[in-house]
Formats: sequence, C-alpha cells, structure tokens
Amino acid sequence: MGKRVNFSARTVITADPNLGIDQVRVPRSVALNLTVPEKVTPFNEALMQQLAENGPTIHPGAKHIIRDDGTRIDLRYVKHKNDVILKPGWVVERHLRDDDVVLFNRQPSLHKMSIMGHRAKVLDWSTFRLNLSCTSPYNADFDGDEMNLHVPQSLPARAEAELMMLSPRVIVSGQSNRPVMGIVQDSLLASQRMTKRDVFIEKDLMYNLLMWVVDWDGIIPAPAILKPKPLWTGKQVFSLICPKVNLVNKGNTHPKEGVPNTLNVFDSQVVIRKGELLAGIVDKKTIGTGMGGLIHTSWLDVGHDETRRFMNQIQQVTNYWVLQSSFSIGVTDTVADSETMLEIEKTINKAKSQVMELVRQGQKGSTRCM
Ligand SMILES: [Mg+2]
Repeated sequence: MGKRVNFSARTVITADPNLGIDQVRVPRSVALNLTVPEKVTPFNEALMQQLAENGPTIHPGAKHIIRDDGTRIDLRYVKHKNDVILKPGWVVERHLRDDDVVLFNRQPSLHKMSIMGHRAKVLDWSTFRLNLSCTSPYNADFDGDEMNLHVPQSLPARAEAELMMLSPRVIVSGQSNRPVMGIVQDSLLASQRMTKRDVFIEKDLMYNLLMWVVDWDGIIPAPAILKPKPLWTGKQVFSLICPKVNLVNKGNTHPKEGVPNTLNVFDSQVVIRKGELLAGIVDKKTIGTGMGGLIHTSWLDVGHDETRRFMNQIQQVTNYWVLQSSFSIGVTDTVADSETMLEIEKTINKAKSQVMELVRQGQKGSTRCM
C-alpha cells in the first residue's frame, strides 16, 4: 500500500512529543512529491499563482496545472514561470502543505484505528514523526517500524478523513467501549509524580510552566502556601489544563478491599470537580486507556477536540516539569523484596510438585486424557 499506490509515501517513524495527537510530521522531500488538486477560484487565485510560479522544486509550490479543457501542464518543463497565467476553473496540483488532512497507516491493519486521519506538518529530515499517544492504536514502536501515508484527492475524501477518521475522533473504540489512546511513557510518569501531595513548585518554575499552557487566561492561581514563600502544588498545575469535567476515580495506590483509606491517606481517591483536581494522584488508572478514566469521560462529556487539547497539553506541561525535577532507576529497583521472593518460590514449588504428580500418574498408567 505504501509504494504501489499513487499519492502515498512510506518511511521509518520516530517519536515527537511536541506534536499533537492529531498531527504527523512529513519530511519536506515527501511533501515535494505528494500533491493535492486545488481548483482555482477568485479567492485563492493569487496564492495558486504564487505556488505555480514556485514550481516543483521550491516547497510550497506545485507540480502540475490542469487547464479547463483538460490539458495538463507539467511545471518541470515551463521555462519562465511567469508564462503560466492561471484562470478560475483550472486545477493546480500543489504540494502537500501544513494542516492538509492525510491518512496514516501501519500494517498489519487489524482494526479501524490502524488507519487514522492526521494533519500534516512539513518539516526537515527523513522520518514520519508522531505523538507517543498514537503508538497504541497503531501498535507502533520506534525500533525501525515504517508507516504509510495517503493523501486524499477529492473534497469528499478529505471530508471523510477529517470528520470520520481524524485521530481524536476515534479515541474511544466501540469494540471495547474504552479509549485506545492514553498518556504513556515519560508524560505518564511525570503526571503521576507531579500530582503527588508533597510536590510544591516555586514561583520561577510556576511562571515558566504557565507559559506552556495554551490559551492561558492570564490569571495566576493563588499559591497553595503563601508564607514563608509562595508555593504552588502540582495538582494546581494539573487543574490549569484539565478539561471541565467531574470525575471520581480510584488510583493505582488504592488499598485492597478491607484496608482502610481514612482521610484518603494514600491519596488514591481521585476527585475532579469542574476541571479542578481536588484530591488524588493522577496515574495510569486515571489518565490511561481505562474505561471511565479521565480521557474517556472528557471525550464523552466535552468532546474530541477538548480531549485532543488536553492530551497535547498534559504532555507539554508535564514534560517541562519533569525536566526540572529528577528521576532515575537503577539495578536495585529490579530486586524483589523477601515477601515477593517467597511468593515466587511458593508458586514455582507448587507447579513442580504438580508436574511430579502427573509424571507419577503417567508412569502408573492411571492418567486420563486431560
Ligand atoms: Mg517495532
């Protein structure tokens, strides 16, 4: 599909957390080859003329012109670009540009989320780049995976890609009634750590974080602690970007049945009221792909576009925060405690004795077909 079909491209994928979940970075070399037919009208005549003059080698340019009588002009062979004067009704096959809706696909295409609509972002280098949250529906990773890109060639096709297949619109899958995209990797870890109770943010970092909030209303929230110096909590930062929903959810730290959680000691009861995080650590249970989680609730209550905004924002803000904090793991983190080791030993010994018993029965010839 990626090389035997026109208006398609295929290359290696890499990650880009600065990209929205609805975007895909397209190499300039690819954008120079893929075209979108656009009819010349009085509204876009000047722009189309400029693209035609730029020709096939300068990026926002064009490859062909189709006159109203159907004759095709290949701009590679037009010596003086000024020779072509466009008329309304002609069609310009222009280069792929920013915000053109394209279809992005990874094989094996196992479900409908294996082909999703994305907005193109034309940039340097030679790989397609996508947001990390998009890896789960495609089942993609960055160890050499390649993906295909297709450019819709008509307005109805483009409308379908935009209104029915755009990635934020297919976040919640009807197959299992839950989101297929969540917050993953660094952003997930950072969200969990940032929303802990003992996280306090000083003025300089808080102001820098505010600059990462898109459409920030300019109101600096009152610091949670005023004296001896103003300190904001990580939960306040989260509330700045949280969609305006209500949610009560249990976090990963929630104790087992029977263990009391008096006064929410484990901070495991997540409470969000009108988009304000009042209590709880925002971990995978809340911000992952679970049914009834924040992404699911947001998608259903405030829509796909607000959910897209939130998923992009949480990544930008927490990634900036985690740069200022620190986190490391070492080999000691992989050593299990004695309680766990005993449990493992018990399980292995149990399985061994079951095998021994089966062998004994087999040797006696008393085993029936199981
Ligand atoms: Mg792979």
